[in-house]
Amino acid sequence: MTTVLERPIVFDSVLATVAAVDDLSPHLRRVTFVAPRIAEAVTAGPDQRIKVLLAPPNGGELKLPVGPDWYTQWCAQPADERFIMRTYTVRALRPEVAEIDIEFVLHGVNGPASAWVSEAEPGDQLGLILPFAVDTTSTKGLLHSGVDYVPPATSIRRVLVADETALPALAGILEQLPAAVHATVFVEVPDIRDARPLPTPGTADVTWVVTGETSLLEALKAAALPYDADYAWVAGESSMIKSVRRHLVNAAGMPKSAISFQGYWKRGEAQI
Ligand SMILES: Cc1cc2nc3c(=O)[nH]c(=O)nc-3n(C[C@H](O)[C@H](O)[C@H](O)COP(=O)(O)OP(=O)(O)OC[C@H]3O[C@@H](n4cnc5c(N)ncnc54)[C@H](O)[C@@H]3O)c2cc1C
Repeated sequence: MTTVLERPIVFDSVLATVAAVDDLSPHLRRVTFVAPRIAEAVTAGPDQRIKVLLAPPNGGELKLPVGPDWYTQWCAQPADERFIMRTYTVRALRPEVAEIDIEFVLHGVNGPASAWVSEAEPGDQLGLILPFAVDTTSTKGLLHSGVDYVPPATSIRRVLVADETALPALAGILEQLPAAVHATVFVEVPDIRDARPLPTPGTADVTWVVTGETSLLEALKAAALPYDADYAWVAGESSMIKSVRRHLVNAAGMPKSAISFQGYWKRGEAQI
């Protein structure tokens, strides 16, 4: 075991093997990974972020991070020699069979993670940094544990806005929505065939937007939003989340403190 972060949230690295690859839609591929230690992994919420680690660009071997100072050491290494690291969401965790599902967007081969998944086959391996203990005792503890969706316990009307990279998190959020909660949902996907049923025990109105036809901001402007929404979660491309947040504050009158917004990727830039 190599503890890579402890405060008291514990993240650790594991070498995981691809057990299955399933195409959910033209741009979303679900990969099931297996590793004995996944049996002990936990999540702090339905949008639990994790790290995917790939072999370094120079073709060297993937060496898993070791010790609490791994990130400082990683930053100090030449970019060509250090492992590639990207952020993804736990779509499903099945500790009883030591399996985890991640849904990857296939956005082409100009990004190493997207390129890797476009060729992934059972038996392939990569590194994962997963949570093995989380702090669920406070909002701050949850945020430190790698989730951004932390609605107040009193929230009953939520606005959820996601692009395709946040669709896995959104699907998990809706699966766990309490029965008494209503969600007004806006999702952008590259192709209408990427739209899918989003089952929920709560209630939800879902508006699908196709990239290039309109934008999430335009869809929000055109919608009769629940102006009494008490919480919003916005995740996806960096400029999108900023414009949507501005709209929710300025036009929908939501307090900034009621909006969780998270950049999942930035057009034209690699993300770690
Ligand atoms: C908290 C969090 C959770 C995330 N969860 C998921 C998840 O579950 N599934 C998922 O697929 N992604 C998820 N992402 C987004 C993912 O980390 C980025 O899309 C990342 O850039 C992918 O790495 P890459 O190596 O493929 O591309 P990079 O090397 O990072 O980028 C290469 C190029 O591709 C572009 N690019 C990146 N993503 C896209 C895209 N979707 N469409 C078009 N161009 C793109 C970049 O702008 C850049 O120009 C998450 C991000 C965060 C912060």
